[in-house]
Amino acid sequence: MTLLLPDPARATGPAPLVVPAAAPPNPRTGPILQVDLGAVAANTRTFATRTTGAVMAVVKADGFGHGAPAAAATALAHGASWLGVTSIGEGLALRDAGLHAPVLSWLNPVEADYAAAIGRRLDLAVADLDHLEAVSRAGIGARVHLHLDTGMARDGCAPDAWAALCRAARRLEVQGVLRVVGMMGHLGCADVPDDPANSRGRTVFGWGLGQARAAGLRPPLRHLAATAATLTDPASHHTMSRIGAGLVGSDPSRSTPLAAALTLTAPVVATRRVPTGTSVGYGHTWVAERPTRLALLPLGYADGLPRAASARAEVLLRGRRRRVVGRISMDQAVIDLDDDDAAPGEVAVVFGPGGQGEPLVSEWASWSDTIEHEIVTGIGARVARRTTPAGGNR
Ligand SMILES: *Cc1c(COP(=O)(O)O)cnc(C)c1O
Repeated sequence: MTLLLPDPARATGPAPLVVPAAAPPNPRTGPILQVDLGAVAANTRTFATRTTGAVMAVVKADGFGHGAPAAAATALAHGASWLGVTSIGEGLALRDAGLHAPVLSWLNPVEADYAAAIGRRLDLAVADLDHLEAVSRAGIGARVHLHLDTGMARDGCAPDAWAALCRAARRLEVQGVLRVVGMMGHLGCADVPDDPANSRGRTVFGWGLGQARAAGLRPPLRHLAATAATLTDPASHHTMSRIGAGLVGSDPSRSTPLAAALTLTAPVVATRRVPTGTSVGYGHTWVAERPTRLALLPLGYADGLPRAASARAEVLLRGRRRRVVGRISMDQAVIDLDDDDAAPGEVAVVFGPGGQGEPLVSEWASWSDTIEHEIVTGIGARVARRTTPAGGNR
């Protein structure tokens, strides 16, 4: 594909500038992100057994970097009955991919395309009167989930504005403009099960439900729990759980073993012997204390290896863990092979499920002082994706 830029000097000047599109990633010679949907299937089944409520598969941010349509279809085939995304655009992409399950989108600007959302049967979370009005103006028949802030001061309705929101929504429901089919909240500390903020959040949610009923609303779907609360706090389950991280193998509560789906590999580009005293990378943050052999990998922070992990990170090559040395650059990283050697083209495993001793996503997260979510959603567009389907339905 090429792009034509407008040329102000068109009438007399040179031919228009033709900008070639970016080269696609090469899955034969470059870094590869392997996605095992069997893991997503197994994790979905685990969640389906951990709650009597429905399971919403949260596939925002391209399914936490695993490919939204494929992760969604896999989850739906293995026990999920709903899909959840942040933006309307993400929801429309699921419809374009041929997925017909109920979809909830929970965070959109007031001027978002609510008509498109209603037309393609996306449920919409609403957290204030401005958004309620925008949705009601966009068309008849919107399906709305009122969203209460249960303790994060983020995207839910402030508790002191909740009763008015419920009454306004009920009026629109009575007029036949929309239907309030759900109520949602979200817990900010569910990864620490005995944090008192969890019981406070549950209490606020129960209070909000009482206010909604007092306004005449009877939302059949009531959902508060995400991954961690679903695994550790049955009192938070209500009628549905919204599961994102858990579907792709991350449990913020560290209570339940789940299956990792991603393996990131890269081929060695080159190796070289260096003498004692050789400085590596920007800032010369690592200096060889002995003669050694270095290998170059074509992956950097633009591809999702956090620069913050530079001094701690490891990869697996030839069956052994190897230190990443020097700063991770935008496009490349250097590893120390010690006395060993490697041939160009040999494949290093950056992270994976751990079966061969390769680093886990959780290790990359701790080397980078972050959470697994940021690692899996951060893999760059230059990395080729390969997806293994989950196999048969349960
Ligand atoms: C991302 C998100 C979820 C999913 O949370 P996990 O902990 O990843 O399961 C659920 N609800 C809301 C509102 C979210 O933003």
